[in-house]
Amino acid sequence: MQSLSQTIQKMMQGKSLAANMHQMMKVVYADPEVKTFLNQHRHQLTKEIIQRGRSKLYEFYHEKQLIRAGKATVAPGYSPQLELVAGQIDVTYVPTKQLLERRQQEHLRQLVNSINMPKFIRRASFDDYYMDDQNATAGRVAAFNAANEFVKNYTPNHFQPGLYLTGSFGVGKTYLLAATANSLAKREVATTLVHFPSFAVEMKNSLHDGSAGEKIAAVKKSPVLMLDDIGADAMSTWVRDDVLGIILEYRMQEELPTFFSSNFSMAELEKQHLAINNQGVVEPVKAARIMERIKFLSREILMNGKNLRQKG
Ligand code: ADP
Ligand code: MG
Repeated sequence: MQSLSQTIQKMMQGKSLAANMHQMMKVVYADPEVKTFLNQHRHQLTKEIIQRGRSKLYEFYHEKQLIRAGKATVAPGYSPQLELVAGQIDVTYVPTKQLLERRQQEHLRQLVNSINMPKFIRRASFDDYYMDDQNATAGRVAAFNAANEFVKNYTPNHFQPGLYLTGSFGVGKTYLLAATANSLAKREVATTLVHFPSFAVEMKNSLHDGSAGEKIAAVKKSPVLMLDDIGADAMSTWVRDDVLGIILEYRMQEELPTFFSSNFSMAELEKQHLAINNQGVVEPVKAARIMERIKFLSREILMNGKNLRQKG
């Protein structure tokens, strides 16, 4: 018996077109999947039908070869399948497992809307959350459990406060928020993750073109909202009252869960950050009002532990 490559080589060498075709079809008919197909349908298939379906059988075989060789196909992401359609042999294209997985990934990604967030958030997951001995501090475990509980219990109709994750730089607050958002996506829940200091700057820059209002309106309505790194930069009175205040007011009234992460505890945020604006003006009453909303929307958890940014 000739090897496949010998057969193909012969074909390449010319001879007549008909002979080539004949050789080629020999290879096609020898393909195990083609064989199985023809065998499975032997009662419906006549010589004429097979003869008429030759180009389809060839197409099927050829596309498979291209896929195997990693070459461009007629329908990338789809694999050919032989079928009998109205008594005739036909090739249909079905999405490959890889394509379906990629689509699912894409779908999940669309459920996590992020604004100015670091790239690593895409890959964050509960499964990869560091829980080894030296990282399983009481605070990290408590935060992890609370985040898991939140995802498990989330329903749009019943208000559940989010988390206010506090703790030092690099302890994994942002990572845990992102893992929570990715886990919610698997339950078809949409989350918006916002790096708050950058968002504040963006809002200020959008003031002149009037788009700030629109952007705030979009963010405030997200089913789950996560404001990352709140308090990292000094806020202007406008950002505090007309950006943060507006968002939190809406979410409190609509009972929409909201998460926060901050290097400051709630008490520190109120006294040291919200009460003093970037011009040094002290406004404790306004700060208290914002803090009241944050407390309604979330529960504070102190994440202690070492700085993971040093970890390679
Ligand atoms: P924080 O927001 O508290 O400052 P991050 O969430 O940014 O800390 O985490 C610091 C670094 O450690 C990031 O680069 C992040 O990718 C990494 N990291 C944190 N937790 C994990 C984890 N469970 N698994 C993998 N990487 C993590
Ligand atoms: Mg962070």
